[in-house]
Order: sequence, then structure tokens, then C-alpha cells
Amino acid sequence: MKAMDRFIIDLKHLEKGVYNYHFSMTDEDFEKIGGSEFQKGDVEVDVEMRVSSGDSFSFDFEIDGTVIVPCDRCLEDMELEISTDGHFDAKFGDGESDDELVFISEIDQKIDLSWHIYEFIALAIPIRHVHEDGECDEAMAEKFRSHECFESGEDDEDSESADLASDTAAGEKEIDPRWEALKNFKIK
Ligand SMILES: [Zn+2]
Repeated sequence: MKAMDRFIIDLKHLEKGVYNYHFSMTDEDFEKIGGSEFQKGDVEVDVEMRVSSGDSFSFDFEIDGTVIVPCDRCLEDMELEISTDGHFDAKFGDGESDDELVFISEIDQKIDLSWHIYEFIALAIPIRHVHEDGECDEAMAEKFRSHECFESGEDDEDSESADLASDTAAGEKEIDPRWEALKNFKIK
């Protein structure tokens, strides 16, 4: 875990003021973080930390770059541009952390920003992401279609069928004939 040390900020005895950090994150970092949403990327992160008193902090993140995610249509890797920001406050104590307020152990007085950055990026990934027109691996897309009970289509209407399909996946395995018909309708 040594390589991740650079994301750990020691908050002991900090003077009031604004502190700036910059991280260039690559595949190696994301692989170490080990999240399920994505494992590869190339991202620049600017962090502004404001210390308003010895035990209360605020963090602002500006995140720009690209991450690699599987295309929803052909499952091959695709590069997705990410440009997002994030914010949370932090204080020393033992409370339960949430999206807005993070509690930091008074014993450690350190915060590891790597997971927070990962989460901000993961939140910025659109639910549906596909290659640009013509860039899908068509052979894979075809295979995917024939093994799934629905096609991940290209327009907004399809999010509806995706919802229906996830219902099926959770329940019975049989293909509802209506969805089968829908699928045939969409493949031209
Ligand atoms: Zn694709």
C-alpha cells in the first residue's frame, strides 16, 4: 500500500488556512484502490483543503481526465471523459460519515483521499455509456445480443427495456415473449 501514501494527508496541528494538493492518477492507482466501477484511468485531481479550526476541515475536488469502462453495447473497453467536482466537510470525532461530512479518527488524525476521489469519479460515470457510432466491436455486440434476453439499444427508450430486463434477471430466467418481440423490433 506504500504507493497510496501520497493520498494520505496528515491533519495534525495544521494552521488555519487553505492548502492545495495535486494528484496525477494512473491505472496503477485505480488498480490499487480496487473499486468495482472502473480500474483504469488517467486523471488529474486538484484538491483545496480549508482548515477553519484545528479540528474542522473542508475539501473541494476538481477532477479531469479519462477512465476506462466496458461499453454497455459491446463490452469492449471504452475511454470515457470525466470532468467533475466534489466536496465534503470533515472533522475529528467518531460519528458516522456520510457524503457531506466525514469523521476522522482523533487518534490517527489522517485522511486518505484516494477512495473519496474514486467515488467522485464513479458518481460522474453515466449509467449508460457506449462507444461513438461505428466504434463498437460489432462481432462482440452481436454475441452479446444473442446471449442476453434484451438488447442494450442506442436511445433513451431503451432504458425502459433495461429496467424490465433487470427485473427478469432477478426473478425467473425465462424470456418474456414481449421483450423478445421488442428485441427483434430493435435489431434492423
Ligand atoms: Zn461498444
